[in-house]
Amino acid sequence: MKASPIPQLLMALLLASINSRKSDPDAPITASFRSMAIDGQFTTHDVSNAAMDFGNRYHFLPSAVLHPGSVADIAATVRHVFQLGPSSRLTIAARGHAHSLQGQAQAPGGIVVRMESLGRAKNMHVHAGESPYVEAPGGELWIDVLKETLRHGLAPTSWTDYLHLTIGGTLSNAGISGQAFRQGPQISNVHQLEVITGKGEVINCSSTKNVELFHSVLGGLGQFGIITRARIALEPAPKMVRWIRVLYSDFTSFTEDQEKLISAEKTFDYIEGFVIINRTGILNNWRSSFNPQDPVQASHFNSEGKTLFCLEMTKNFDPEYPEIMMQEVEELLSQLRYIPSTLFQSEVSFLEFLDRVHVSEVMLRSKGLWEIPHPWLNLLVPRTGIHAFANEVFGKILTDSSNGPILLYPLNKSKWDNRTSAIIPNEEVFYLVAFLSSAPCSSGQDSLAKALKQQERILEFCKKANIQMKQYLPHYTTQEEWKFHFGPRWEEFKHKKQAYDPLAILAPGHRIFQKAV
Ligand code: FAD
Repeated sequence: MKASPIPQLLMALLLASINSRKSDPDAPITASFRSMAIDGQFTTHDVSNAAMDFGNRYHFLPSAVLHPGSVADIAATVRHVFQLGPSSRLTIAARGHAHSLQGQAQAPGGIVVRMESLGRAKNMHVHAGESPYVEAPGGELWIDVLKETLRHGLAPTSWTDYLHLTIGGTLSNAGISGQAFRQGPQISNVHQLEVITGKGEVINCSSTKNVELFHSVLGGLGQFGIITRARIALEPAPKMVRWIRVLYSDFTSFTEDQEKLISAEKTFDYIEGFVIINRTGILNNWRSSFNPQDPVQASHFNSEGKTLFCLEMTKNFDPEYPEIMMQEVEELLSQLRYIPSTLFQSEVSFLEFLDRVHVSEVMLRSKGLWEIPHPWLNLLVPRTGIHAFANEVFGKILTDSSNGPILLYPLNKSKWDNRTSAIIPNEEVFYLVAFLSSAPCSSGQDSLAKALKQQERILEFCKKANIQMKQYLPHYTTQEEWKFHFGPRWEEFKHKKQAYDPLAILAPGHRIFQKAV
């Protein structure tokens, strides 16, 4: 680390902050601090990329982007913004891979910290042995964590469907996929974190050390600290995966089977599901590279005019002993009530399965269909409300699923640690229902407005029918709504914010707390 140039930098930022209040609030910060000698660097020109995210609907320009060369760069920046006190309007947003949907990783007029600059495999350490784990920077992509740990025959236990997301980004939410029913979300599989609080302190925390900070940060929407390092649990990595899809026309049988599978001791390793409404080519789901064993049969299926439900499961196996897996799969399938002619199976490597959505990303990018608006809505719906929800939404509010997949699968609350900041429904079983819409220009100018209107109707229905759902990857525009989201945990959340980020410097993009000026 070179001699601290930060005070000068902060002086420049302060001046800019004061100037911006006098004139244009988005006035670019003076170029003077671009030449500051830190391990990394600041840029003040061409910061428009930091105002972009996957949602592609909110674009807030920062004043500067920090490309940190060390954890100390980030700590010094936060510390000095903190020292400027409440009279400065500067805020700081950690930016992972910017796969947020509504500007959550942006900092209007503030500083965006590009966490990926801290990443890269050379900073990852895999500890094999009895309780294996990997230590990795907060800006590391999960795909790189997977590739590194696989070199040791190991892998993390809990995933997201898509791996080009950073550790800090998913741990700030929860990190859920088809393994979570058994392993819990990713936030249940972390041993230790290194965090920079809103005061600029670098603190190591775990379930035995600085315990409150540890749990606050997990699922904490970036409000309490920037995750610079995480110690993540590993297990022996499977080599191959049997990947299975079956279809249902009856929602009750579909969900009963899903619930049976997630509560059984001997079951699949991954369980998800999705809803297909009035759509052809149903196996060409954009989110996966699933290639059914019998494509001829698959092509005969479409859901024209109907709603179908697809149960998706996997079983890991060792290619040297496929018989054990085959027997287990057969036994499990024999207990399910899917339409018998709709059993599709495929075998892929573990890496190929986990990285399945990336294949679609590459394809969509090549067609200019990736960097378009994504009006997504993710809900956690309690089991007691899922039938009323399905009755109203599938086929009535939503009359087709052509603009993107609709995921629907159950999770077990007992696998979530209620000390973390993640907010989930208060029932043992609840469903993730994810409306993953795209709004390409080709669908007409009003496709975004149409998707947003449908979401409004879904949310209104939940309210009217008193379905106690919670938003996952929550987005609200007023503090009242945030209060409602946190419910009885709001005061605790506010109290922790006061303790760890009293000036509300961090993660302004969620619009939960306003920096006082
Ligand atoms: P960013 O968008 O960069 O940041 C998200 C938030 O976290 C921001 O508030 C940011 O300030 C904060 N943050 C970022 N890094 C840090 C850090 N190091 N320390 C503290 N705060 C930080 N989620 C699931 O759970 N399961 C899925 O299967 C899943 N699939 C997805 C598929 C796609 C194609 C996309 C676009 C998203 C998916 N998500 C899924 C949602 C995803 O987990 C969140 O959007 C996540 O925040 C994205 O991570 P990111 O690294 O891009 O974070």
